[in-house]
Amino acid sequence: MSDKTYAPSAEMTANAHINPDNYASMYASSISDPDGFWREHGQRVDWIKPFTTVKNTSFAPGNVDIKWFEDGTLNVSANCIDRHLAERGGQTAIIWEPDSPDEPAQHITYAELHRRVCRFANVLEELGVRKGDRVVIYLPMIPEAAYAMLACARIGAIHSIVFAGFSPDALAARINGCDAKVVITADTAPRGGRKTALKSNADAALLHTKDTVKCLVVKRTGDQTTWINGRDFDYNEMVLEADDYCKPAEMNAEDPLFILYTSGSTGQPKGVVHTTGGYIVYASMTHEYTFDYKDGDIFWCTADVGWVTGHSYIVYGPLANGATTLMFEGVPTYPDASRFWQVCEKHKVNQFYTAPTALRALMGQGNEYVEKCDLSSLRILGTVGEPINPEAWTWYNDVVGGGRCPIVDTWWQTETGGHMMTPLPGAHATKPGAAMKPFFGVHPVVLDPQSGEEITGNDVEGVLAIKDSWPSQMRTVWGDHERFEKTYFADYKNYYFAGDGCRRDADGDYWITGRVDDVINVSGHRMGTAEVESALVAHAAVAEAAVVGYPHDIKGQGIYCYVTLMNDQEPSDELKKELRTWVRTEIGPIASPDLIQWAPGLPKTRSGKIMRRILRKIAENDYGALGDTSTLAEPQVVDDLIENRMNR
Ligand code: ATP
Ligand code: MG
Repeated sequence: MSDKTYAPSAEMTANAHINPDNYASMYASSISDPDGFWREHGQRVDWIKPFTTVKNTSFAPGNVDIKWFEDGTLNVSANCIDRHLAERGGQTAIIWEPDSPDEPAQHITYAELHRRVCRFANVLEELGVRKGDRVVIYLPMIPEAAYAMLACARIGAIHSIVFAGFSPDALAARINGCDAKVVITADTAPRGGRKTALKSNADAALLHTKDTVKCLVVKRTGDQTTWINGRDFDYNEMVLEADDYCKPAEMNAEDPLFILYTSGSTGQPKGVVHTTGGYIVYASMTHEYTFDYKDGDIFWCTADVGWVTGHSYIVYGPLANGATTLMFEGVPTYPDASRFWQVCEKHKVNQFYTAPTALRALMGQGNEYVEKCDLSSLRILGTVGEPINPEAWTWYNDVVGGGRCPIVDTWWQTETGGHMMTPLPGAHATKPGAAMKPFFGVHPVVLDPQSGEEITGNDVEGVLAIKDSWPSQMRTVWGDHERFEKTYFADYKNYYFAGDGCRRDADGDYWITGRVDDVINVSGHRMGTAEVESALVAHAAVAEAAVVGYPHDIKGQGIYCYVTLMNDQEPSDELKKELRTWVRTEIGPIASPDLIQWAPGLPKTRSGKIMRRILRKIAENDYGALGDTSTLAEPQVVDDLIENRMNR
């Protein structure tokens, strides 16, 4: 791990919302007096009926119960739209950048957004959707995806978004899982110059659901689709008839806002339930402070609305703050590897938020794609989703940010609703690969994995847990509260257990060391596989690497490395030898790889995360039962790895 520290510039500290002084005092009061702290910050959203109770939460075994602002009422869509109209009706709310750079971008003002969302809400009501009903959204990254989310919120329906890259089976499982009344989809979806037949996927999914489920179809391309009268409804036709106004429903703070499945990196995805009040308070606050968002800034989060990052930082957080948020339909490498940077230049993006998987892919393509674009508008860079290797961090910092832009490495989860640990641009130094400091109201602890005791002091390592509730914590697993308690509260009593390991370094800064399942024990030495991966990626020949443990007669566990080489590299035994020596010098002899397999590709979730549990099975030579593979992006990658496995 790198120990280099980058201090925030004096200018950043002077101008940012949060500086070292107010961070220290606000953080201290958020922990010592959560009631007082959130009573004050709960006012950042508009309440219909103000809350009197702030926090009523318990992590007690067998009785996990989480409620925030429980007697208050509000509406999220009114908070994201209506309350901005007087002051910023003419301001752009959403900039939409289509898949093809030849198609014009759209600028949707707050006034227009209001009209669109009201009409969409009226269409849903016309289809019989009522408060508390579930609506599945299976849409590409088009403005209608945001309208649909906000329309559900407006009438109190609970949305469950399914990423448009998912198969009919995965879609059917999610429709049935929440007993949805309506599925919203589009005809076909362009992405990276190719098209996905969304409506025909929905048709296939609907063969496995109740007959009563209705399908609302948004026109994206105008491509022909099959049509079942009475089941399929044409959004573009219905919306013409719909009224321009729809009254926002009065929702209790604890009414569910949405259900969203986790990425499925570690097993069967969990249907995470988020509620209304605490979620919107926390999403808007983290958006403003983590990215130091100021009026007039253009904010771009490259995630898909199918992931929690898209929920909190494309739609709900930014719009609650009256921001201008950019929504991108395409992929980073289409038409070529400079697309992200061209979009930044075109729309003068100020905050740019992406994932390590995209950065690693772009880094491998060479700097000229970045350098030909004018990135002078960028002020803050962000990353989320996986630990970021110091190599990729440094490239992001130097080449993309020109050394000017603080990088916020945000650690959080679908379950947490918003950022849990991240440096704040004007308040904290950054270190390549470190999540640094907890956000307000978050009380992280490092636990001994065996005893569950808190490890105090600095320069320590263990499992990461959270000691007390924060407003946007998930409330339950949809329809399965027992699974909720078992997954997050059973291993370490009275804590929320995140499933990740962490280190608190000598300065008291936090580093996520990867998932607890990914910690290996080699001859009695525990180490996170992320460290070995980072060492491998730091070698010039390596584009990407994934490391897992496998049973080893002498060492207990051996180190098995899957390595993807840079385009211009040839695999050879010489190179394997070189990589072994390299890791030994970078980390030490204890981390020396036992087996190295060349991997043309790595198995990833559809959100781009490496699925190490599958790699572990292959390394263990136990590839018959790979578990839930429904979230796997490219199944054929796995066949190749099995065929060429090293441990047989
Ligand atoms: P599942 O829970 O179904 O296995 P998942 O954990 O990948 O899938 P998400 O909620 O999308 O589902 O991801 C959260 C996880 O991503 C975290 O628990 C952590 O392991 C990882 N993560 C997210 N951000 C960071 C970060 N900045 N640094 C390190 N790891 C991160
Ligand atoms: Mg998880």
